Amino acid sequence: MIISVASGKGGTGKTLVATSLALSLKNRERVQLLDCDVEEPNDHIFLKPVITGSEAVCIPIPEINEKKCTYCGRCAEVCVYHALAVFPQHVLVFPNLCHGCGACSYLCPEKAIADVGREIGVVECGHSDGVEFAHGKLNVGEAMPTPVIRRVKAQANRDGIVIIDVSPGTSCPVVESIKDSDFCLLVTEPTPFGLNDLILAVETVKELEVPFGVVINRAGVGDGKVEEYCLREGIPVLLTIPLDTEIARINSRGITLVEGMPQWKKSFIGLFDRIQEITGERSRSVKR
Ligand code: SF4
Ligand code: SF4
Repeated sequence: MIISVASGKGGTGKTLVATSLALSLKNRERVQLLDCDVEEPNDHIFLKPVITGSEAVCIPIPEINEKKCTYCGRCAEVCVYHALAVFPQHVLVFPNLCHGCGACSYLCPEKAIADVGREIGVVECGHSDGVEFAHGKLNVGEAMPTPVIRRVKAQANRDGIVIIDVSPGTSCPVVESIKDSDFCLLVTEPTPFGLNDLILAVETVKELEVPFGVVINRAGVGDGKVEEYCLREGIPVLLTIPLDTEIARINSRGITLVEGMPQWKKSFIGLFDRIQEITGERSRSVKR
């Protein structure tokens, strides 16, 4: 089972939920935690994994052989990302705009373009206290997180439970991380900002047709509008974590919730059981 942990808004407690869920289940099943928040991965701060392997993530970018090039302009025409500019006697390549799609080299009539790899990030794998771990790191200044996310997701082992920590928001990296999940947990906080971004996140997971439920973190900080919204829309609230200075203190010291307050482990196991019930009910109704 693949469970993605997402949030429309940053700073809602997504990492807290992903890491504690992974640690709570490790004695029950084989568990993998994949941190796909590649622009700012932070699960490793809490899990402190032993890194056992790493591999560079490269994308193919064009290299022009100007001896063969006739400056016809075809490559610049087909590049929807405007990563090429053709002048009467020169072709300019803008590597940071290139998405590595390969269209230019494929369509060059003179076969004057070769694809060369450019490193945009790295994937590191390891383990931490019985949890298999992988995360991606996008190089500073790079604009394309999705190839790195794909490589992190390629580490997923469907024999057990895979928990994916998704970047905040609702843009391409979020879609790339959530798609193919069996379930998505949306972590929010009961504030007007939290509600606004939760509504956007709900629209995204509905488009992806991934079943989902909500975790409310810092309950008590704002108003009751998130609960009202979930009730009205028939969205299950699967776990509520209160606003608590002890939880904040543990979190700020880089300690997971279930390690700092082991009584929470039962709640996270209960959360997983509810997810299994929901996905089981859904697959039964699809079969009917
Ligand atoms: S399509 Fe090929 S031949 Fe034409 S300008 Fe680009 S590199 Fe040169
Ligand atoms: S590989 Fe794709 S994105 Fe990159 S320059 Fe060629 S056409 Fe543009």
